[in-house]
Amino acid sequence: MMNRRTFLAAAAASAFAPVKFVRAAEAKRRVVVVGGGLAGLSCAYELRKLGFEVVVLEGQGRAGGRVLTLREGLDQGLSAETGATRIPDTHHMTLDYVREFGLTLEPFKGGNLADVVHLRGQNYVPGHGPEPDWPLQLTAEERRLGRGGMAKRYMGGPLELVKDSKDSLSVPGPILEQDHYTLRQYLEKQGLSRDAVELVTLGGDSSASAGLLLLVEFNEQVTREYFHIRGGNDQLPGSLAKKLELGGAIRYGCRVTGVGQNDSGAWAVMEHAGGHETVRGDYVVSALPFSVARNLFADAKLSTEKQRVIRELKYFPVDKVFLQMQKQFWKAKGLSGFANTDLLSERFWALGPESPEERGLLLSYVIGENAAKLDTMDAQSRVQQTLADAEIVFPGARDQFEAARVKSWGEDPWQRGGLTSFGPGELSWIPVNARREGRIFFAGEHTSRWNGWMQGAIESAHRVVKEITA
Ligand SMILES: Cc1cc2nc3c(=O)[nH]c(=O)nc-3n(C[C@H](O)[C@H](O)[C@H](O)COP(=O)(O)OP(=O)(O)OC[C@H]3O[C@@H](n4cnc5c(N)ncnc54)[C@H](O)[C@@H]3O)c2cc1C
Repeated sequence: MMNRRTFLAAAAASAFAPVKFVRAAEAKRRVVVVGGGLAGLSCAYELRKLGFEVVVLEGQGRAGGRVLTLREGLDQGLSAETGATRIPDTHHMTLDYVREFGLTLEPFKGGNLADVVHLRGQNYVPGHGPEPDWPLQLTAEERRLGRGGMAKRYMGGPLELVKDSKDSLSVPGPILEQDHYTLRQYLEKQGLSRDAVELVTLGGDSSASAGLLLLVEFNEQVTREYFHIRGGNDQLPGSLAKKLELGGAIRYGCRVTGVGQNDSGAWAVMEHAGGHETVRGDYVVSALPFSVARNLFADAKLSTEKQRVIRELKYFPVDKVFLQMQKQFWKAKGLSGFANTDLLSERFWALGPESPEERGLLLSYVIGENAAKLDTMDAQSRVQQTLADAEIVFPGARDQFEAARVKSWGEDPWQRGGLTSFGPGELSWIPVNARREGRIFFAGEHTSRWNGWMQGAIESAHRVVKEITA
């Protein structure tokens, strides 16, 4: 119902509306976003909501970058998540988009099934019954604490200090303090024996920065549950891309080869099927991992500090080999399909419907040195190696095996690595990675303290939107 006051107010507003519109149009800013991963897409989506004119330049014929679900060659209904797989219930920015686009969540790892540890030729199921008699030289105290108890006690100190931190932007101080050590050095410094370190870090890389590992734990620590998007996680970037495609705001097959700026604007030079082109705007957002951006900024007048991190930030090679199994036979034995091992396959995960009678995926998830070794093998040998390791950890795998898919992020020319691998002392680079340089802004998981997660890509995009609109 409109009374006289609201009518007059509305009339006054409409009288001014055209003027406002013209002013807005005059002031309309154009932003060129380089890279159509989750960071570039979220940034463009939010800027467009605010009335900016945006264009996303994506090198591949698809959006989503490291959120890539494979379905082809696998049984209908199975989604092989080559990159982002699980969403912690604490990752509110990722979950907000899941809600906004009406996507359905399902539990990532349901049921009360047990994980396996494979060590020195033996399988152990610590979740069932007492702590196993590990074939290691452990002190009496280490044996008493067990694998979980040691992880809790020795990783727990810095995490306890930061557990109430509400700052979602920076790496907490007590974690940065431990960033000068590798994980191995950090654990040994606290008195853990060599064998105990092996047990605690099994299936992980003990030469990575202790700070990075603590940060990963911190970003998950109050998580009670993990989710997966029913039908595949690629629906998340897919939904953002669909919105942007509607207004023609994404250009696929556009490989950016240079980014530059001067006092009046910024630009991206690109190659596509039709040749070369320069796309200009008021600002450029670089949403590329630094692994594929090393040679892009010759004309960008970047600070020496920024040039250094772009040149030196390292990425872990990451491989996943997916084995489609006729039945999820491990469930019938009370096992989850998850394992940490000292084999080349390092870690096994499982994805599939609830019923053990239905087909499912058993996958190896290999990060760092072992992934580099896998990358020297051809695809067939990787599958054979993974199947041989799966048979050791989950006897019967060979009989159930039907089909395989392989993904190497190190070999992917659009990524050149899977996850940012901050070495000791390098977590302090995050603010440098993120810092704007004139008209060029920087988004991507490597610019966020939530690095290694979709939440990092989204948080970085929201930060850049704030910087541009400030
Ligand atoms: C193996 C693995 C497991 C993971 N597991 C999880 C998980 O369980 N949960 C979770 O939340 N997150 C997970 N992540 C992390 C998550 O996938 C990433 O943090 C996030 O997707 C990164 O998004 P981004 O936009 O920063 O970068 P990217 O996704 O790397 O996007 C960069 C984009 O730039 C494009 N590009 C590259 N070069 C050019 C060029 N020259 N010109 C134009 N375009 C170019 C690429 O094609 C790509 O689309 C995982 C990642 C990996 C690799």
